Amino acid sequence: MPAIKFRGVDFIGFDALLNDDERLVRDTARSFIEDNLVPIIEECNRAGRFPRELVKPMADLGFFGASLNGYGCAGMSNVEYGLVTQELERGDSGVRSFVSVQSALVMYPIYTFGSDEQKNTWLPAMQKGEKLGCFGLTEPDFGSNPGGMRTRAKKVGKEYVLNGEKMWITSGTIADVAVIWAKVDDEADKVRGFLVETDRPGFKAADIHGKWSLRASVTSGLSLQDVHIPESNLLPGSDGLKSPLMCLNQARFGIAWGAIGAAMACYDCALQYSLLRKQFRDQPIASHQLVQEKLAWMISEITKAQLLVLQVGRLKDTGKVQHQHISMAKRNNVWMALECARLSRDILGANGVADDYPIMRHLMNLESVKTYEGTHDIHTLIIGASVTGIDAF
Ligand SMILES: Cc1cc2nc3c(=O)[nH]c(=O)nc-3n(C[C@H](O)[C@H](O)[C@H](O)COP(=O)(O)OP(=O)(O)OC[C@H]3O[C@@H](n4cnc5c(N)ncnc54)[C@H](O)[C@@H]3O)c2cc1C
Repeated sequence: MPAIKFRGVDFIGFDALLNDDERLVRDTARSFIEDNLVPIIEECNRAGRFPRELVKPMADLGFFGASLNGYGCAGMSNVEYGLVTQELERGDSGVRSFVSVQSALVMYPIYTFGSDEQKNTWLPAMQKGEKLGCFGLTEPDFGSNPGGMRTRAKKVGKEYVLNGEKMWITSGTIADVAVIWAKVDDEADKVRGFLVETDRPGFKAADIHGKWSLRASVTSGLSLQDVHIPESNLLPGSDGLKSPLMCLNQARFGIAWGAIGAAMACYDCALQYSLLRKQFRDQPIASHQLVQEKLAWMISEITKAQLLVLQVGRLKDTGKVQHQHISMAKRNNVWMALECARLSRDILGANGVADDYPIMRHLMNLESVKTYEGTHDIHTLIIGASVTGIDAF
C-alpha cells in the first residue's frame, strides 16, 4: 500500500468562509506540521517522547500565546488561532495539548490576571519558548469538581506557603513555572492563582507512566510541601473559581478546533485507503455501500463541526461568545472526532491498529481529549443548565 499523504478536507467550500489571512495562517501551520511533526510523530508516540525540538520552531511561527497582543505575541484572531490548533492536532493531540497549555492555560492567566511585573517577566520568554509552563487545577480526588480542591495557600509575612497535590498535569516535569490554583486560608477559602517557579524547595513533579493516550505529551503529578513564594507571585486579578474556568474556556475553544484536525486526518486516511484496498471481485472497498455509509457519516459530521466552530470563533472575535457556546463546540467536536477515529480504524481493518497509519494514535489520544477540559458529560450539563436554567451537576 503506498504512503498516504493528507490532502485537506473541504466538502462544501468551507475555505470560502475564511479570509486571506486565515487561510495563510492555516496553510503555514499545515506545512509546518507536514514537514516537521508528521515524519517523527509515530516514533515519539512509540517512545512516549515529547518532541521538544519543535518548541523553538513553533515559537518562531508565533504559536505560543498566538491570540494575545504585545509581549512579542502574534495577535492572531480567535479564528486564526483555532485554525492553528486544528493543524497541530491533525499532527497529534499531544503536541496540540502542549501548545494549548502554554498559551491558554499559562500565558492567558498571566496576561489576564497578572501584574505588569509578572507579564514582563514571563510572557516574552514564554512566547519565545524559552520558558515553559503548566497549569495545576486537577487533584487526585477532584477532577470534574475542582471547587473541592484541597491545595491551600497561607499568607505568612510577605510570603505565601503552599501545600497540596495536583494530578494529570500536562508539561509538569518540563515546566519552568506552574500556575497553581489554591484555596487561600485567610480569604474565606477563595480560590486564587499563584505562579510557582518549579525549582523552589518543596516543589516536586513526577511523570505519569503507562499512559496509552497522549503519549507524545508529558503528563505529571505535582507535589507542593511548604513551598514558599513571595506575595508578588499571587496573580492579583485572580478572583475565585471563575478565574481558572475562564482559562479553561480559552483552551476548550482551541480543542474544539483541534478535534476537527484529528477527525480530518482519520477520515482522509480512511478515504484514500478505501480507494486502494481491494476485497471481493477485485473491487476497492470504497465501492461497498457499508463503507460509503461510514465515509458519508464522517464527512457530514466534519462539515457540521467546521461550521459550528467557525461561528463560535466569529462570536469570540466580536466579543459575543458565551461559555455554553464553547462547551457545545468542545463536546460535539471531540465526540465527532472520536467517532470518526473509530469508523476510520474499522475501514482500515487490521492495518487500522498498526502505527503505519495515524488512526489508532488519534483514537487513543481523543479518549483523553474527551475527558480533559471538562468531560463530555460535564459539557452536557453546562448546555443543559444554559437551556433550562437548572444546574444538574
Ligand atoms: C492526558 C491528560 C492531561 C491532563 N492535563 C491537565 C492539566 O494540564 N491540568 C489540569 O489541571 N488537569 C489536567 N487533566 C485532568 C482533567 O482535566 C481531568 O481528568 C478531568 O477534569 C476529569 O476529572 P477526573 O479524571 O477526575 O474524572 P471524574 O471527575 O472523576 O469523572 C469521572 C466520570 O464521572 C463523570 N461525572 C463526574 N461528575 C459528574 C456529574 N455531576 N454528572 C454526571 N457525570 C459526572 C465524568 O463525566 C466522567 O465520566 C488532564 C487529564 C488527562 C487525561
